[in-house]
Amino acid sequence: MKEYHYIIVGAGLYGATFAHRAKQAGKISLVLDRRPHIGGNIYCENIEGINVHKYGAHIFHTSNKKVWDFVNSIVEFNRYTNSPVANYKGEYFNLPFNMNTFYQMWGTKTPAEAKAKIDEQKADAIAKMMAEGIEEPRNLEEQAIALIGNDIYEKLIKGYTEKQWGRPCSQIPAFIIKRLPVRFIYDNNYFNDKYQGIPIGGYNKLIEGLLEGIEVKCNVDFLKEKEKYEQMADKILYTGAIDEFYDFRFGKLAYRTISFEHELYEASNWQGNAVVNYTDADIPYTRIIEHKHFEMFGDEIERISKTVISKEYSTEWKDGMEPYYPINDEENNSLYMKYKALADKEEGYLFGGRLADYKYYDMHNIVEKALNVEI
Ligand code: UDP
Repeated sequence: MKEYHYIIVGAGLYGATFAHRAKQAGKISLVLDRRPHIGGNIYCENIEGINVHKYGAHIFHTSNKKVWDFVNSIVEFNRYTNSPVANYKGEYFNLPFNMNTFYQMWGTKTPAEAKAKIDEQKADAIAKMMAEGIEEPRNLEEQAIALIGNDIYEKLIKGYTEKQWGRPCSQIPAFIIKRLPVRFIYDNNYFNDKYQGIPIGGYNKLIEGLLEGIEVKCNVDFLKEKEKYEQMADKILYTGAIDEFYDFRFGKLAYRTISFEHELYEASNWQGNAVVNYTDADIPYTRIIEHKHFEMFGDEIERISKTVISKEYSTEWKDGMEPYYPINDEENNSLYMKYKALADKEEGYLFGGRLADYKYYDMHNIVEKALNVEI
């Protein structure tokens, strides 16, 4: 045996879950991360007693009991339920699309009234698709209009999506909008999953718990000293960007990145909700997060007289930035497949996580994958 069974590159959720399982299996690992902290994009910074999601809001949700029990065995989760509100030119709408949204949009009160209105709204789009012989929506615009009709598409989807992805909805894959439920009940819960919440005490508790008793080195750029580390471990789990691993030899994969303006205010409750989406194209940011609402409920909100909010701006990824969302369009997916073909043949390596798999994963997908991989 070499010095370590595993060197794990990346101390994010995938790497940390894998490291935890490897430890349970009696393996010795070294975890490396090039950032100055562990946790990847779920890392939080405590400001004035509030856990600030420095790399964007993360809400854990899953229907997989094994995943839920696993994360709760590391840290208990609270009962946070995500119910974002959309601000369209100063008008407020509930999300996801449900009876509250339909009432706010059209004044419909019963499911039958709302369904009739949506059928009327999407009739033109469906007739047009049928006339052109299109069986399946080919992009997000077609998918959204066929699902929910024109008014909601124009007010709550188009501007937000085009800001988030930096391209017209007609060039964005349809699967992205399938994340959002459409419901004919008065229910503002953004997710359909059985379980949902935020770790009590914040996400750092989850990562610290996963990595307990495991050697971790931050500020280490693995790719700069790859040969050295290869000598030190039987196997390496790489969770970074797959194109970077191969020195971009086939070209760069596209990502969206996010930049944040974090602001501290002298107010106990600034926007009344954790998430407010700004869905019109004229406002440059996509959403404002008020972090305390993820972990403070009822009277607790008033106990801290300050609040931290973050405005989220979405831009195309360039060198030196953190990649966030893979752009899973056809061009990038086929470029990824070229890298994957190399990775599949790579001796002594495992690859996993959002950046190595180049997939728009939620946290529960990551944990599930890391729980199922053979150690
Ligand atoms: N979306 C939208 N309007 C909204 C919120 C979401 O049209 O107010 C669509 C949009 O296409 C977006 C997708 O749903 O790309 C997923 O958005 P969400 O904010 O849930 O993604 P996250 O950034 O949280 O992964």
